[in-house]
Amino acid sequence: MNGNIIILGSPGSGKGTLAKLLKDKYNYINITTGDILRKQTGEIKELIDKGNLVPDNIMNQIVKEEINNKSKFILDGFPRTVKQGEFLESITEIDLVIYLEVSEETIKKRILERGKISNRKDDQDLSIINHRIEKFKKETFPLVEFYKKKDLISYINGEETIEQVFKQVENLSIYN
Ligand code: AMP
Repeated sequence: MNGNIIILGSPGSGKGTLAKLLKDKYNYINITTGDILRKQTGEIKELIDKGNLVPDNIMNQIVKEEINNKSKFILDGFPRTVKQGEFLESITEIDLVIYLEVSEETIKKRILERGKISNRKDDQDLSIINHRIEKFKKETFPLVEFYKKKDLISYINGEETIEQVFKQVENLSIYN
């Protein structure tokens, strides 16, 4: 076991917050695809701003380079499609998939709040937020079943406070 983790969840489910807490306490290497992509300009920026997904072949290449030969990493924002999940399987081993379950109502509220303090265009417009949620349901949610079949999924109630969510995750205890 090398302790590689995926955090799965809709936009605004708290993936980034959880990834950071795990990194700070247990020294994980975080691979956050949203942050990597936000440094890009041109077509990729346009896709992100409109709430569309970046094509799988581009994402797979980026993540392959990021992972390289790393172990004990947390993937936050990848995979987002079953195709990406299948690719990931071909390049590395995953030990745990944390699925953060949060209601749509909470997600919308959280993203709009974040939009007030971040510069993210995709967090500021309700129609783009709705589009991202639809993309999640259609493209990303099937990954829950994908990893369930492999017996890798742990469901975490992401409605709770940050501290309570972190506690639930720590109780999964594969971290040291
Ligand atoms: P995030 O910060 O995780 O919410 O990601 C912001 C945006 O980056 C998403 O709405 C997508 O446009 C893009 N993105 C991030 N990760 C991926 C991925 N694995 N596949 C496709 N697009 C992605």
